[in-house]
Amino acid sequence: MLKKIALIALLVFSGCKGTSQEEKQTDTENKTFAINKTDTEWRAELTDMEYYILRKAATENPFTSDLLDNKEKGTYVCAGCGTALFESETKFNSGTGWPSFYKEIEGNVAYDVDFKIGYARTEEHCATCGGHLGHVFDDGPAPTGKRHCINGAALDFVPDSD
Ligand code: FE
Repeated sequence: MLKKIALIALLVFSGCKGTSQEEKQTDTENKTFAINKTDTEWRAELTDMEYYILRKAATENPFTSDLLDNKEKGTYVCAGCGTALFESETKFNSGTGWPSFYKEIEGNVAYDVDFKIGYARTEEHCATCGGHLGHVFDDGPAPTGKRHCINGAALDFVPDSD
């Protein structure tokens, strides 16, 4: 019995979040951003997956993103509005199944706190369109010690041109 509880606790507290594709309200939805579109407009231009993650703060299932193992040099941009969010140099393998970065492109990512799974987590979203990206935790590698746990579907990858 105790083992079972420990396992459940582990599942709940590990990674970004255990559930996926849930529709939830975020505080972010009530803020105004430089790119401000109606729900209908977002619904029309995003894929289902992008819409549920960026606009409804859902979480993709771990190990499902094409970008998870991408090691190319380039920039990860918002899948909603194209704002540059993370550089490939800051990407690392966190083992969680979600693309992870130790640093955001400063000023292009904004933060919020959510209590959706019972305790406070720092939510992060695109500072330009408000699109939900994921969460940031304090167990990342040097030099920042941060782990930005990001839904791959919230990102597009733009390779460096050389
Ligand atoms: Fe955006």
